[in-house]
Amino acid sequence: MVKVRHHRLDMAVAAGTGGLSFVPVDDEDAPDGDTLYQLSRLASLTEHLEYEGLVKAADLGKYGDFGVGAPYRLGELNVLDGKVYQALHDGTVVVSDLHQTVPFAQLTRFTADFSHSVSSALDIHDFESQLDRLIAPHGRNVFYAVKINGRFPMMMCRSVHFQQKPFKAMKRVIAEDQVITVWHNISGTLIAIYGPGFIRPLAPAGWHFHFLSDDRKLGGHVLDLQAGQVKAEFDSIPQFVLMLPET
Ligand SMILES: [Zn+2]
Repeated sequence: MVKVRHHRLDMAVAAGTGGLSFVPVDDEDAPDGDTLYQLSRLASLTEHLEYEGLVKAADLGKYGDFGVGAPYRLGELNVLDGKVYQALHDGTVVVSDLHQTVPFAQLTRFTADFSHSVSSALDIHDFESQLDRLIAPHGRNVFYAVKINGRFPMMMCRSVHFQQKPFKAMKRVIAEDQVITVWHNISGTLIAIYGPGFIRPLAPAGWHFHFLSDDRKLGGHVLDLQAGQVKAEFDSIPQFVLMLPET
């Protein structure tokens, strides 16, 4: 079930906190394991250069403890076990400044519905094919959050430089400011979100992986990987809530 719902933007200026934040309209919106909450349309990043956001990192926990996104003025955002991390351009990770706003995120309250081991994979395409086969019996037309912890023979991640105004288009950001980092024999967690094909252009379709090392010091958006045998935990997510800033 796809729900598109406006969330009331609280004028926190009046509340004295000096910023804007989303608040759920009613209690029915309380985060649960069956809903993927998405902050902003994908196009707000890819087409409209909205790189600053409205929702504070501190408020992401209302929507889930697991997810991916883009931090204030770009980089890569990882949410794992309720903590918000930010990969800087060189692949080093810092705990996000909770006062900073976030322009895009997909979050859920992670609860594993089923788990499987994934055989070794020589590249990301091989890895995605295996995950495709594992979700097929459960349906390809829902979202999945997948948590995969293990040791990876190779992990290739990207992040981008912090953006300054005037902002340039996302394609130019990737072309000019992307930094690719490769690690070998690194232990960590893949934070994966799968979106069904029909959800584009509102949200990313297919597999989207972010990585966070076990010491929480390295990570980013995954471009390629090699995997040994790893265990994958799958959370099947039939509901989608899109939170639109009232712009
Ligand atoms: Zn990403």
